[in-house]
Amino acid sequence: MSVSVVKNPTSESVDAALNKPSGSGWIAHKFGGSSLANAERIRTVADIMRGRNDAGQVIVVSAMQGVTDALIELAHAAARNDGYWRHAWNALKKRHEDAARALLGAQARSEQDWLAERFAELADLLHALALLGSPAAEALELIQGLGEIFSSRIVAAHLNANGIEYALLDARDVLVVRHEDLGVAVDWDQSATKLAEWRVRHPQMRVVVSGFVARDVHNRITTLGRNGSDYSGAIFGALFHADEIHIWTDVDGVLSADPRLVPEAVLLPQLSYHEACELAYFGAKVIHPQTMAPAIARNIPVYIRNTFRPELTGTCISSKASIDSAVKGISTIPGLAIVNIEGAGMIGVPGTAQRVFGALRAAKVSVVMISQGSSEHSICCVVQEKQVDIAVHALDEEFIHELARGQLQSINATPSISVLAIVGDGMTGTPGVAARLFGTLARSGVNIRAIAQGASERNISVAIESGDAARALRAAHAGFYLSPQTISIGVVGPGQVGRAFLAQLAQVREHLLRTANLDLRLRAVASSASMLLDDASILPQEWRERLDAQGTPTDLTHFADHVLANHLPHAAIIDCSASSDVAEHYARWIGAGIHIVTPNKHAGSGPLARYKAIRAASSHGTRFRYEATVGAGLPIVQTLRDLLDTGDEIISIEGIFSGTLAYLFNRFDGSVPFSTLVQEARAAGYTEPDPRDDLNGRDVARKLVILAREMGLQMEVADVDVESLVPAELREVDGTEFLERLVEADESFATRFATAQAAGKKLRYVARLNAAGQAHVGLVELPDDHAFAHLRLTDNIVQFTTRRYRDNPLVVQGPGAGPDVTAAGVFADLLRIAATLGARV
Ligand code: ADP
Ligand code: ASP
Ligand code: MG
Repeated sequence: MSVSVVKNPTSESVDAALNKPSGSGWIAHKFGGSSLANAERIRTVADIMRGRNDAGQVIVVSAMQGVTDALIELAHAAARNDGYWRHAWNALKKRHEDAARALLGAQARSEQDWLAERFAELADLLHALALLGSPAAEALELIQGLGEIFSSRIVAAHLNANGIEYALLDARDVLVVRHEDLGVAVDWDQSATKLAEWRVRHPQMRVVVSGFVARDVHNRITTLGRNGSDYSGAIFGALFHADEIHIWTDVDGVLSADPRLVPEAVLLPQLSYHEACELAYFGAKVIHPQTMAPAIARNIPVYIRNTFRPELTGTCISSKASIDSAVKGISTIPGLAIVNIEGAGMIGVPGTAQRVFGALRAAKVSVVMISQGSSEHSICCVVQEKQVDIAVHALDEEFIHELARGQLQSINATPSISVLAIVGDGMTGTPGVAARLFGTLARSGVNIRAIAQGASERNISVAIESGDAARALRAAHAGFYLSPQTISIGVVGPGQVGRAFLAQLAQVREHLLRTANLDLRLRAVASSASMLLDDASILPQEWRERLDAQGTPTDLTHFADHVLANHLPHAAIIDCSASSDVAEHYARWIGAGIHIVTPNKHAGSGPLARYKAIRAASSHGTRFRYEATVGAGLPIVQTLRDLLDTGDEIISIEGIFSGTLAYLFNRFDGSVPFSTLVQEARAAGYTEPDPRDDLNGRDVARKLVILAREMGLQMEVADVDVESLVPAELREVDGTEFLERLVEADESFATRFATAQAAGKKLRYVARLNAAGQAHVGLVELPDDHAFAHLRLTDNIVQFTTRRYRDNPLVVQGPGAGPDVTAAGVFADLLRIAATLGARV
């Protein structure tokens, strides 16, 4: 694949215009709208600035938060003449007057007069727009920049009231820019000259400047583009030969991702200019993409800092490349569309890509990303969604002949696209970064529409559907260990095993977060009657109380939708019910990308058609795991899978799969009647409430079917030859009667025991399966030295006879029942899934 990325230029030759030695003592500070939202915040800003002993201090300010938006809306409202604008104009005026009054005390009068005049002028302008019926581009430029004119005046007046003299510089008086294809370029010569003239009249060592605004080469008022005050900060930093540029905002610095989308994002203490450019270009709103250019040209370090935590140093952006981790940050740009140009006619035809760009450039469509298949059969560009019609139209015109001749098959657009980019200097020469990104996205079910890698190898960007963007961002963030791998978890059926699982989760959650980079977030619990859903997370130690207090009637479809949170990369449902109805949902859940972990045997041993549907539903690595269905926490299913996956052949599987029956026959030595043992076992909690559910052998048959299917055999429970230990005449009676009348069977059990004993053998309830699919479950006599004859208590045992383990079978043995060990088996399955998702378990 040949790929490239289009982006704004990053360096300009300011050195020529500003040829002075560094170490001037000037520091440039830029404050964003969030730092200037109201009088109180402006006071905080002033305190920080007065508290510094910068030899020279140039403070570049944004408009008060939200004011630029409000001004733009005001201009449009006036042009529509819908009557709303007067109200909005008043609100904006009042907001500034209030701030001035709160900040300026005695001095407020003159500032209020000044504000009143400016707002009157604004009203005149708006009237004119109302008459014109459309906001002329020039008027819009002028109006949208007024917020900075107002705020800089208020900030300067407030700073001046305290003895230190601050000069106020209206950036429109000195900054001259040109609007070019790739952004706003500074006319350094003119700007430096004008500034030098201004400095003659204003020699103060502290200056407040309006950000965002400028003039073009025709002396018309203009702006640097939305969010452009950061760029102003860097431009004035360069014009004043500043030693440092500090951009003050409302976060601790540049974070590894947008904190509104990835709350776990971490602060990046160091970034290279290039990394910062890439992150900004790909949507990290914290810095305007063009900010770096003036800083790079003069090698001025840029600090991104938090106004509300001035004690922190924030992020330092400099020429130093730090390659401590391959990927530093991840960002996304929403609101895009893909334009795809396809056709065999492009193959080997030079200049097609140039024509595509030429046409788009002529139509003033900016291209965020392009990617071309190595087959040259298609070119894909990503553009702003709002420009997509213009783009398609421009390309239709450009390629009108090729389309008519069929050399190009189609030019089509896909809306609702976002671009996600991973950025880091350390990616250069680190193999596997792209593979990890693609794997991570695939595992969280995100479909990649187009890929581009910057020639610098400092970024890889992918176009994805906007609906997937939040999930993709979090998945990638976790995939590169920038935040823990998060799995949204829902537990169905908090019975004994479910409760034990939740207790284990409560116990190890923190530990896994710290050591394994794994965040298991319990977000839903459902019993058969009620369910509890939480958007954030349910503390596993609190689920019970909260389910009782806040539960709503169980609806498993709604439950699954909730677990499959779009903003979390992965989802898993732990089904600890013993319900076939729940298993009915599996195929759909898995198809939707929810991993399933369960000790419920119904899916594995229920109707074959359903089992196959569940298996078939598993795409992009969604897992269905059920180790705990056989032998509780013992690694039986996994062992079988490993044998098969490594190419071994199963000859037979034999085992004791019922803890209850193991216990009964371990104890049955003829001294106590069989029925008494059953009663005792029931009292000790070793049997089902109705012991016939153990004695009938069905449960063992189910486990055998699960193993058989794992081997690829198409088996149903009905195919297993099962010997039930429940006497025929006691199968239909009720539970109490059964327990009372089980004595009737004692004689027959005693006889079987005596016969076996006479032959030097032991009675054991054994399951057997061979490669031909013959399956038998029942009571057998085993030699005294057989492995199955020496089990402890409720131990399970399974013996795999395989081609490799022919003479000496592979044996797995241990406790095969009990909520704790079963839950541990479930947990181990979940961790195995987490490992495939990139957790360090
Ligand atoms: P200001 O008003 O100071 O210019 P902005 O709102 O323009 O502030 O930018 C700061 C905001 O950028 C933060 O509050 C944060 O929500 C957002 N943001 C997006 N991506 C990032 C990132 N990678 N690191 C830090 N902040 C980010
Ligand atoms: N006030 C302008 C805007 O909102 C510039 C800025 O704040 O950076 O876009
Ligand atoms: Mg900003």
